[in-house]
Amino acid sequence: MVEAHAKFGGIEMEARIYDVVVVGGGAAGLSAALVLGRARRRVAVVDAGEPRNAPAGHMQGFLSRDGMPPADLLAAARAEILVYGVEIINDRVVEITEGFTLSLAGGRAVTARRLLLATGAVDELPDIPGAHERWGQDFLHCPYCHGWEVRDEPIGVIGTGPGSIDHAHLLRQWSDDVVFFTHTYPVTATEREVLEARGIQVTDGQIAELSIVDDRLDAVQLADGASIPRAALFIRPALHARDDRLIKWLGFEVDESGFAKVDATGRTTVPGVWVAGNASNPRAQVITAAGEGSAAAIDINNDLVEEDVRDAHQSVSAARRPAAPSTSRLERRSQ
Ligand SMILES: Cc1cc2nc3c(=O)[nH]c(=O)nc-3n(C[C@H](O)[C@H](O)[C@H](O)COP(=O)(O)OP(=O)(O)OC[C@H]3O[C@@H](n4cnc5c(N)ncnc54)[C@H](O)[C@@H]3O)c2cc1C
Repeated sequence: MVEAHAKFGGIEMEARIYDVVVVGGGAAGLSAALVLGRARRRVAVVDAGEPRNAPAGHMQGFLSRDGMPPADLLAAARAEILVYGVEIINDRVVEITEGFTLSLAGGRAVTARRLLLATGAVDELPDIPGAHERWGQDFLHCPYCHGWEVRDEPIGVIGTGPGSIDHAHLLRQWSDDVVFFTHTYPVTATEREVLEARGIQVTDGQIAELSIVDDRLDAVQLADGASIPRAALFIRPALHARDDRLIKWLGFEVDESGFAKVDATGRTTVPGVWVAGNASNPRAQVITAAGEGSAAAIDINNDLVEEDVRDAHQSVSAARRPAAPSTSRLERRSQ
């Protein structure tokens, strides 16, 4: 392993040089690490261990792994990448400096020729008592992840913006009993009419809390005292990149929502830096995130091969170049 020295806050530290450091060990990061490890690259995955779907008991919609607990998928993926010599570092990246040198919360530093950020995203939950406790259980966001499990049940949708109307229409696909809680979104007369035309009941007023009985959502309590029995409640939460400090340090372009602007392979606007999964694509499901990680890994390896070819050619050309004539010979010629 190549070693280098880097300075953090005046402290000289030993930094290991990898071909690629992957920041984030969710589906995107581990999938990339698998491809890069198999391409015989020196790879480290630094993971802080907070995948977005951790609160959910099951992961749905991943072909061949439907219903698997999220932690089991990651444990299997970690075991697979270790076979190819990938190093897994359970730590958090706390700073990145040019080049790229990453300092970790545990005090260690690693250096990489290329960087893949697969740091995921965070859902902003509303400040409603019970919301955090039930998140991923029966307080949900994604019909494709949980819709089948609550099919034909009485479900609710929280109004937080115009997107909530689309969300309610989508969820109507899974149940005939859908209530739209206006909460903080004042529905227009037309929106109300269209919701009701599809059999979605519109309930006005702010939600005060989620009523939980026997460790399950039992009802939605409104501020006016009304209690509406529901088995599941959906929201379309605001989502933001999990670690936007990394973006600031690296300085690549982001879209209006703060997600990295990338091409089809995850390449950012900063040379040597790729982003995959929810960190650049808020719509990515687990299988999509894994696919994006794989695509980024292939592009990163190609980029490294190009550099290796360039370096090899330059050093051979330099070795073949004739030595510059000595001054004495020049002097002799001019005489
Ligand atoms: C409640 C819930 C349930 C869901 N259910 C499903 C489902 O059933 N099916 C489905 O397909 N999708 C589901 N999803 C979506 C799923 O969570 C995402 O598609 C998936 O997690 C994206 O993977 P990722 O690798 O991009 O990010 P993540 O899985 O979030 O992984 C990112 C990793 O990066 C690490 N990290 C972040 N910053 C740093 C740092 N500075 N240093 C080191 N490590 C860092 C984090 O700790 C984390 O381990 C669900 C989401 C939620 C919220």
